Amino acid sequence: MKPAPEIDIGRLQKEIAELALISESPPPVVTRVLFSEADLKARARVKDICRQARLAVREDAVGNIFARWEGTDKAAAAIATGSHIDAIPNAGQYDGVVGVLGGIEAVRALQRAGFQPRRAIELIVFTAEEPTRFGLGCLGSRLLAGTLPPEKTAALRDAEGRDLDFWRRQAGLGGSLDSVRLNAGAYAGFLELHIEQGPVLERENIAIGIVEKIAAPSSLRLRLTGVGGHAGTVLMPERRDALLAGAEIALAVEKAAVSSGSPDTVGTAGVFRVEPGAVNSVPSRAVLEIDVRDTNPATLNAALAQIEAAAAQICQKRGIGLELERINVDAPAMCDARLVELAVRVCADLGVSSRNMISRAYHDALFMARICPIAMLFIPCRGGVSHRPDEYAGPEQIQKGVLVLAEALRRLAE
Ligand SMILES: [Zn+2]
Repeated sequence: MKPAPEIDIGRLQKEIAELALISESPPPVVTRVLFSEADLKARARVKDICRQARLAVREDAVGNIFARWEGTDKAAAAIATGSHIDAIPNAGQYDGVVGVLGGIEAVRALQRAGFQPRRAIELIVFTAEEPTRFGLGCLGSRLLAGTLPPEKTAALRDAEGRDLDFWRRQAGLGGSLDSVRLNAGAYAGFLELHIEQGPVLERENIAIGIVEKIAAPSSLRLRLTGVGGHAGTVLMPERRDALLAGAEIALAVEKAAVSSGSPDTVGTAGVFRVEPGAVNSVPSRAVLEIDVRDTNPATLNAALAQIEAAAAQICQKRGIGLELERINVDAPAMCDARLVELAVRVCADLGVSSRNMISRAYHDALFMARICPIAMLFIPCRGGVSHRPDEYAGPEQIQKGVLVLAEALRRLAE
């Protein structure tokens, strides 16, 4: 085996800390909502760091950033890595950033080692992995993979009613969004480094989690319309109570998830709004929003179908009007067996502990899986905490993650 690439963890940590200061909130809080002033500044900083590493930087029409280290074989598809730098309000400094700045450091480490890639290596910074602005996550990677129809993209609005074109102009981005889509085979593979955002690796004292499957979220919105009335005068047999129908539906969600046959099915009725919301008034309307996730498309679809059938039946029984909307149903992704195997081997060769695992949060890799083979590398984060200012990954943990990424990229690009 060739000598392992050497990671400059001091420099990388400094870059992570400096990027965290580019925020809409005072430190240690990181907030970078898509195309806000802070997001644009952070994007400019990352592009600078890429240029300093002599990478060729380009941006597509939705602002996905590509930084390319050209290979000697121009005809070979590139190998890609990367993640995101946008951050939800009140977030920390590692989510996404470890995969972006760590990806750049992996490239620099290979450059310092004198490596010359045969395949190009591309770092991708995806636009809006977080759903904060438009209520839809992975905007950039969905468009790259062609899974977001143009009419759905055009209908996106933020809380102030501004659309994506308004924000693209703010960011100085032109061109047709149709041009963002990449063909299958555009990349030979995509490997995303990310903090785990869960407790498993820390608990088991393991350096690297190699993701085999990514669970996908589906969300449903149900609007229930019953008949309101005075809580004293409308007698029980006469009632068409929207809340009671909603309560039965919430229980049906639990039942569908528990009985799906897959241990990875989870169902949550996280939103339950009731109108008019007075103690002495029979609830006339209710809105439920339901999140269902799974790693297996068959059990996911069966659970969704079961919930929808139960909702229809409950509403019919109770004389409640039902409007059901599937907000999004994304397919779970399987990681590529060969990339997973390669990551396992790299960890073993480097003497870094690893285990295979499932990603229960979704990432840009979920959508990249539609156009190329993917895998993900997780590193532990303290307490499994993420999306909070106290999110933390230690230097040794980051160093190991970037080392494994660098060595994997080397083997894939040589
Ligand atoms: Zn992330």
